[in-house]
Amino acid sequence: MSRSLLVAALFVALAAPRAGAAPLVFKNVRIFDGTRTSQGDVLVDKGLIRAVGHKLGAKGATVVDGSGKTLLPGLIDSHTHAFDDKALTEALVFGVTTELEMAGSPEKNRALRENEKAGEATGAADLRSAGMMATAPKGHGTEYGFPVPTLSKPEEAEAFVADRVKDGADYLKIVVDDGKWLGHPIPTLDAATVAALVKAAHAHKLLAVVHIGAQSGARIALDAGADGLAHLFIDSAPAADFASFVAAHHAFVIPTLSVLMPLCEAGAPALASDPHVAPFLDEGDMAQLERRFPARLPAVNCTYAPTTVRELDAAGVPILAGTDATNPGVVHGASLHGELARLVDAGLTPEKALAAATSLPAARFGLADRGRIAPGLRADLVLVDGDPTKDILQTRAIAGVWKRGVAVDRDAYRQKVEAERAQAAHEREAPPPPGSDSGAIADFEDGKLTTKYGAGLVPSTDALRGGTSTVDLKVVPGGAVGSKQALAVAGEIKGNSGFGWAGVMFQPGAMPMAPANLSAKKMLHFWVKGDGARYRVMIFARHLGFRYAVRTFPTTNGKWTEVSMPLASFDGLDGRDLMGLLWTAGPQAGKFAFTIDQLELR
Ligand SMILES: [Zn+2]
Repeated sequence: MSRSLLVAALFVALAAPRAGAAPLVFKNVRIFDGTRTSQGDVLVDKGLIRAVGHKLGAKGATVVDGSGKTLLPGLIDSHTHAFDDKALTEALVFGVTTELEMAGSPEKNRALRENEKAGEATGAADLRSAGMMATAPKGHGTEYGFPVPTLSKPEEAEAFVADRVKDGADYLKIVVDDGKWLGHPIPTLDAATVAALVKAAHAHKLLAVVHIGAQSGARIALDAGADGLAHLFIDSAPAADFASFVAAHHAFVIPTLSVLMPLCEAGAPALASDPHVAPFLDEGDMAQLERRFPARLPAVNCTYAPTTVRELDAAGVPILAGTDATNPGVVHGASLHGELARLVDAGLTPEKALAAATSLPAARFGLADRGRIAPGLRADLVLVDGDPTKDILQTRAIAGVWKRGVAVDRDAYRQKVEAERAQAAHEREAPPPPGSDSGAIADFEDGKLTTKYGAGLVPSTDALRGGTSTVDLKVVPGGAVGSKQALAVAGEIKGNSGFGWAGVMFQPGAMPMAPANLSAKKMLHFWVKGDGARYRVMIFARHLGFRYAVRTFPTTNGKWTEVSMPLASFDGLDGRDLMGLLWTAGPQAGKFAFTIDQLELR
């Protein structure tokens, strides 16, 4: 082999080391290419689509018989938040090969991007992200318990956007939402700041996509020159000129009906009982689909958003399919199929709905290498039984998924879900920890960290992950509800790593971090006295692996307050395999002090 050939071969190997080894040819298949439907063959080699036509073949090619089936470009979900790898694996299993994240962690995204570049992410959807979103102090996006940058005036927009560019953002996400439509008024950016942000984004060649809550927010966003809306609204019927207003601004709209409609719909989520979908949903997904935003909606009507979609479509506004997973009521992957059905119900043709999840987002977000079935593009493909261009529900009848020409092992995934379900059933049958019947965990009346059951209360800090935060536990006089003593938890969170913690952990199992069956318990209950700051409860469970479920709670300076948190509000936890409950400060750096008492899991 000559030197130049060797170099060429090495280059190809580095460019796509894990791409499908043998060429792949789909024979006699219905092809929805992102816009139009035809019949023929598709040839894939080295991770790319090489040819679309008739009588295609290649030496040693794997042949996939496409008769009665339809080949689609890999689906693109235009509104997600992917907090972990599980989300992206789950997305891929359902044929979602690309997710456009509308706010997420820049650190996590850098790592994912490296994997994708190295061709090693064949088991997870590719992720593009806005990184941190632009929001006002105490505005939407600041409520999740981790520190987020904010801004409040136009003069700060340029520096804010420059920071996002440094973070590696693929586009800018802006929040225009005063929360009134949800019955939770919150601060939001003013119109001048939104306009300055859009201008700065465009100067950096970034799209500006705006989260809106109410119809009025859509007007502010589009007047400011935004490229697209990241949601529609359910607070009001679309104004007579709304669709033409959006069309005149050449903006696209990601309605996210999947996350909006459950706010005003009753009944069980349809996806959970779909026989094509259900076998691939684990227990966490099932619980997630049942979850709802804790909203007190003053005026909503379930016809507003679909009506708006229909009018926008008629006015020629590009509609993009997005789910807003992981939010209450939606899951990665499966919910995009639900969104497609909702778009068709609203009035889009099935072909337009399919374009909303393939060619349109690719074109709008500048993903020139995907979103269509055409020579030279990534071989991100979904094969489904039947004809989704006639019946959109057929997108769920998935016969195969390929990312960069590599087949996704859906069977292995389904078997893993089955095994997990069997394990969960087994855990629910285990006896509850002896001594747990009354619901009481600890009241500190004996002056010690004694608990009614389990392996007790212990200090816990981020030292487990290489952090240096500190905590000190001390039983102190003056408990809640007239009791004698309580537990003071004080210390310091060091460094702004984004994950810092220090606090006290209750381990309900017989041995430290052994899972305990507390599925009979529904409510975590305790009293707290603090310094006015918000603190967190983190819950560790066997099935969560290295992840944890977390919620924050407020404290009142020097006054005992009662906190009740349904276990199910922790990502749908059912308590069958609880390993630890942690009362903690962080992740923001600084000294902290709070006192807890009357810990109960009832
Ligand atoms: Zn979102």
